[in-house]
Amino acid sequence: MSPANNRQPLRIGLTGGIASGKSTVADMFAELGVPVIDTDVIAREVVQPGQPALDEIRARFGDGVFGADGQLDRTAMRKRIFSDENARLELEAILHPRIGEETRRLANTATGPYQVIVVPLLVGSPLAEFVDRIVVVDCDEELQVQRLLARDTETVEQARRILSAQASRQARLAIADDVINNDAGLDETRRQVHALDRTFRELAGRP
Ligand code: ATP
Repeated sequence: MSPANNRQPLRIGLTGGIASGKSTVADMFAELGVPVIDTDVIAREVVQPGQPALDEIRARFGDGVFGADGQLDRTAMRKRIFSDENARLELEAILHPRIGEETRRLANTATGPYQVIVVPLLVGSPLAEFVDRIVVVDCDEELQVQRLLARDTETVEQARRILSAQASRQARLAIADDVINNDAGLDETRRQVHALDRTFRELAGRP
């Protein structure tokens, strides 16, 4: 059942390591009018007050990971799971199914020849099976460290720790159908995005 036949937009999964340039690339697709679904945004939405995930988090982790305003204290939560692998897995068991469900729901409402679904941790995620094609934003690891430092990470050691906690560059490239190299300037990255845009429109049968 090809997307061209059933009019379901081709689903493109966009992934990459931290600070590799996923948002930058997603914005370039959005500039071309392509619907973009960002699972990081969904991950924040599923823990908004009133959402069932929040009650489950409170039942499991207690009031200590909540602020006085009743919102999830993301910094406290991060600290809690940083040194406790079990806690991290339990938090993921609460969040991941809901993020997956909302992603699928939004994907089914998107229109156009293709859609881009940004999933930072696509390696090993069930969403890897949901998408038709995987684009990896690839970037030299030293550049990733530099971009992290320029943005929000305090030390080189901290930046390297974050990188090594993620799937390896090799593991990401192994699941890629297409690779966008984001080592050079933005113009070079945009050129690659435009080339892929033409490819995806052709694949969808709707240029
Ligand atoms: P995260 O994993 O944290 O969500 P990301 O993969 O979405 O990050 P971006 O936020 O797009 O990455 O980029 C990381 C940083 O690097 C940003 O400050 C961005 O402006 C910068 N950056 C991205 N691409 C380039 C480029 N080609 N040249 C220079 N700077 C870049």
